[in-house]
Amino acid sequence: MTLIRLTDVRKVYPPRVRGGAPAAAIDGVDLEIAAGEIFGIIGYSGAGKSTLVRLINLLERPTSGHVEIDGVDLTELSERRLRRIRSGIGMIFQQFNLFSAKTVYGNIAFPLEVSGYPRERRHDRIVELLEFVGLTSHAHAYPEQLSGGQKQRVGIARALATDPRILLADEATSALDPETTADVLRLLRRVNTELGITVVVITHEMEVVRLIADRIAVMEAGRIVELGSSFEVFAHPRTEVARRFVSTVVSEAPDAAAAAALRARHGARLVSLAFADDDTTQADLFAALGRVGVGFEVVHGGIDEVGGRAFGTLTLALTGPDEDIDAVLAAVDPAHITEVD
Ligand code: ADP
Repeated sequence: MTLIRLTDVRKVYPPRVRGGAPAAAIDGVDLEIAAGEIFGIIGYSGAGKSTLVRLINLLERPTSGHVEIDGVDLTELSERRLRRIRSGIGMIFQQFNLFSAKTVYGNIAFPLEVSGYPRERRHDRIVELLEFVGLTSHAHAYPEQLSGGQKQRVGIARALATDPRILLADEATSALDPETTADVLRLLRRVNTELGITVVVITHEMEVVRLIADRIAVMEAGRIVELGSSFEVFAHPRTEVARRFVSTVVSEAPDAAAAAALRARHGARLVSLAFADDDTTQADLFAALGRVGVGFEVVHGGIDEVGGRAFGTLTLALTGPDEDIDAVLAAVDPAHITEVD
């Protein structure tokens, strides 16, 4: 079921300098996000990601086009009805945006107070949220006493307070180190699986979408230039920009300098093999090499997981008769084999 639908959305900002040309930050975007999915939007700075995510809750009004949540066109609603819909959309931010003068407890209480959540149920709700994000023992701490990861957990608890159906994460892990990023992304996955909340993550880091997204849209110059399951986009990127993002996280064949260094170190035949889970697996290949008695050593690359499926590129140093090696490689799609010489 489609929960979020954008139809031919454009957002043109007035020129920043007088007499300048108006800039289309979003230039004709069609997008459908299903209830229950974790959707990743990736792009370089300036691609239009923040604008797009702010159009979903109408913090920005589209210049033209339609934004629907659950079949309701937000562009046609009064401010009052819009506020009600917005309370069903939580948001978290790169800089956390916590109240520094309020405790963790007070930060989470705030949305309950402003939304008119029944007073007698507020405390229980806050206790429940603190437990969910693992901050029970920090209830009375102030934001400055917390680590970045803990601050974002408060941000998540606050965003969840009023039981939203959608959580928008605007570069929510960009200020965090890789380990904390992985922790926060695990929490967002629990938000999705345990609470059934649809999560939209925008990021400029491919590792973030690799770890969390079911589907990905790649944005460039205000447009969605590529869209598919995480696995499809990682395994078969079609645009240059998607290929560049994929190459930031996926092991590739060695470049010329790395190949020369490998050559100098290994006398054996060097072969790079791209695995994309849809054909031969590394286990099959290693077993086949073992059967014919070809020695192999992984000398470059690695295998990653995306959407529960493995792929990447391994470069192997193979020792044994060429005809035995060739016989084993014959089982692999030739498009996935590169001889390193
Ligand atoms: P991203 O989140 O991918 O970095 P943004 O949505 O922030 O991209 O920006 C997209 C484009 O819109 C950029 O060229 C940016 O300069 C422009 N832009 C964003 N906000 C405004 C604004 N309030 N006024 C004018 N231009 C803006």
